[in-house]
Amino acid sequence: MGETSHKINELASLLKNAHYTVILTGAGMSTESGIPDFRSREGLWQKFDPMRVARPETIREDYDAFHGFYKMRVETLKECKPHEGHLIVARMEKEGIVKTLVTQNVDDFHRIAGSEKVYNLHGSIRTFRCHDCLSPADETAFLGKKPCGFCGGRLRPNVVLFGEGLPHNDLNEAISEIEKADLIIVIGTSLRVYPVNQLPFMAKAIKVYINREMEFQSSFDLTIQGSAKDVLVELEKLL
Ligand code: NAD
Ligand code: ZN
Repeated sequence: MGETSHKINELASLLKNAHYTVILTGAGMSTESGIPDFRSREGLWQKFDPMRVARPETIREDYDAFHGFYKMRVETLKECKPHEGHLIVARMEKEGIVKTLVTQNVDDFHRIAGSEKVYNLHGSIRTFRCHDCLSPADETAFLGKKPCGFCGGRLRPNVVLFGEGLPHNDLNEAISEIEKADLIIVIGTSLRVYPVNQLPFMAKAIKVYINREMEFQSSFDLTIQGSAKDVLVELEKLL
């Protein structure tokens, strides 16, 4: 048995013994659906600097760049759907093996795959609003670069941009879920974005990290280097 299979076995027994498991996901959870992440070698970072474009200041200073970046991401999403790994996470919740899902992803794939208790801490790229007056707007208006129908302001997706605060209630609820947890499984995130990168360490829980690139090994009790989908497929066979 290879080292990875060993570790997946270990994760299966942790899951069987845990009373309250919380999963935290990032962009790596969706790359196998065809949605690029930010920081991998094939990530969006290679073409854009998301830390520069995905900021509220860019809406005022360079709306073309802001709009182009999100238009591309909204359009990519239309060609993609949740993969087996998202479905497995949803089944694990239905079976009571997982209690709560906390995600940084804005693609809504966990909910589409059937997960119910999901905290979307960075919002959703599927709904839109006016940056100035907050009125809701529709996708066609955003994609067509139309101004807000109420105040003429600039439209944007309902995501949390770099430098903006996270939805307060959701963040607090997610933190209390994490404090209840005795097992936390972190999947597909570089753990570079604050404050979500702090969440796994707010609990006394056993911490597991599943990711393609390994950087934070020492902060976790168990690390599994691999793709989210492959690891979850192997894991489900053992549950
Ligand atoms: P990130 O790009 O910083 O890191 C992704 C991590 O996932 C990397 O460490 C990479 O090695 C790993 N990874 C990539 N594919 C993987 C796979 N198939 N299996 C396992 N690991 C894999 O992403 P982040 O940490 O989530 O932070 C980026 C921010 O960008 C978040 O705030 C998020 O809102 C946003 N974002 C979201 C999406 C999405 O919704 N799908 C996509 C890109 C960026
Ligand atoms: Zn407006």
